[in-house]
Amino acid sequence: MGLINAPQPTDQVLSTLNRDGTRRWLRPKISKGVHYRRRFFVGWSLIATFILVPILKLNGYPLILLNIPARKFHILGSTFLPTDTFVLMLLLFSIFVGIFLMTAVFGRVWCGWACPQTVYMEFLYRPLEVWIEGGRSKQLKTDKEGINGRRFLSFVLFFFISAFLANTFLAYFVGWDQLLDWMCQPPTSHIGAFFLMLGTSALMTFDFAYFREQTCIVACPYGRFQSVLLDRHSLIVGYNPDRGEPRAPLRKRATDQAGDCIDCNLCVTTCPTGIDIREGLQMECIHCTQCIDACDAVMAKVGREKGLISYTSQEQLESGKRRFLRPRLFVYSAMLALMFGGLIVSLAGKSSADVTLLRGLGAPFSQLPSGEISNQMRLKITNRSGEQRQYQFGPSDTSFEFIAPENPMTLADGETQLTAAFITAPPSAFINGEITITIVIDDGVDFHSERPYRLLGPDTGGTR
Ligand code: SF4
Ligand code: SF4
Repeated sequence: MGLINAPQPTDQVLSTLNRDGTRRWLRPKISKGVHYRRRFFVGWSLIATFILVPILKLNGYPLILLNIPARKFHILGSTFLPTDTFVLMLLLFSIFVGIFLMTAVFGRVWCGWACPQTVYMEFLYRPLEVWIEGGRSKQLKTDKEGINGRRFLSFVLFFFISAFLANTFLAYFVGWDQLLDWMCQPPTSHIGAFFLMLGTSALMTFDFAYFREQTCIVACPYGRFQSVLLDRHSLIVGYNPDRGEPRAPLRKRATDQAGDCIDCNLCVTTCPTGIDIREGLQMECIHCTQCIDACDAVMAKVGREKGLISYTSQEQLESGKRRFLRPRLFVYSAMLALMFGGLIVSLAGKSSADVTLLRGLGAPFSQLPSGEISNQMRLKITNRSGEQRQYQFGPSDTSFEFIAPENPMTLADGETQLTAAFITAPPSAFINGEITITIVIDDGVDFHSERPYRLLGPDTGGTR
């Protein structure tokens, strides 16, 4: 039964598949309308940002440096250490909820305007390809005749651009200074990083020269989530069938009943994923707006109103009504405000050191031959000040004897150390077997903390 219903070889099941199952190469014609110019500006601003972020510095560090071996993230002048799990978790959740909110309101605006796959493909690699090989018809001719010198040249240039972008990407993890240093040395001095960069360059060349729209159609999980993230009121790129149908080419228009679509097919030939937007909302549509620009130009030429294909919503296409406020937007906004607020509060409350007081291992206390009670305490300090610091610590009440082998404790930037200390008190100091004292930690610069610490001892009914 399954085989009877299976698509027959003559059916076209995918926009990128020929009827015989071979790859259908897409060579979209670039439509340089209003949306393209805006996207071009946004795209190149993002490319410039991507290149500049690891170069520009704030508080002595690049704007973003993800130093994984040292387990330190420097983001916009703040240093995040493994102890900042909560802050990083809030940041990640804020990003996820922000994506949900953005998609519910603006549809796949990320895919069409800001995704690196689209930005690099449409504003860097494809224009370069057109410049070297010529437009759509020349490229399709090369597809038929086989690779020629121009296509080979574009592949070579693709590799060099990919190598530059891969190096920039690597700078996010090792820093631009380190990268420049490596560039002046033979690859054998940093063989791991060299192969990582080479592998990334090869993968990017493969992606932008060969795989292309397949990344959006079959590899990217974001496109697959659209049915969940979008609703009938979300912004989409849509064709208005009430206005466009019945479509008819200009030369065959026998009646005034024909719709505005002149069936020129330009919205299809400009589409980077090869679909026909007139067939309705499809998962392959990355909302790049190329079909809007193409159709608007056609409408202008034939003297019709622009907007046969436009930014709209499914509801608007069907009922003519647009509804912006929906319950899910309130839920997403509230969640985002909560998490973002938590993130801001956590960041504002971050001091230049993390301190944790822990009980000693083994017996809770011991009695010395002199009869006094000794408690072991462990102190963990993480220096996040951005420079080397010395931390002095001890009880605020100096009548307690305090012995610490390493006091003050010297820590480099980002370093964490655990040290032990012994506090001795007379048995009479304990009430019901315990007493709470205050431990003061100070770096002499800007960090001062007073933490309560409970000493345990015998229940002597003391009254100190
Ligand atoms: S570009 Fe516009 S007029 Fe031409 S086929 Fe597409 S929808 Fe119809
Ligand atoms: S249908 Fe239009 S908006 Fe969607 S991917 Fe194709 S050209 Fe871009």
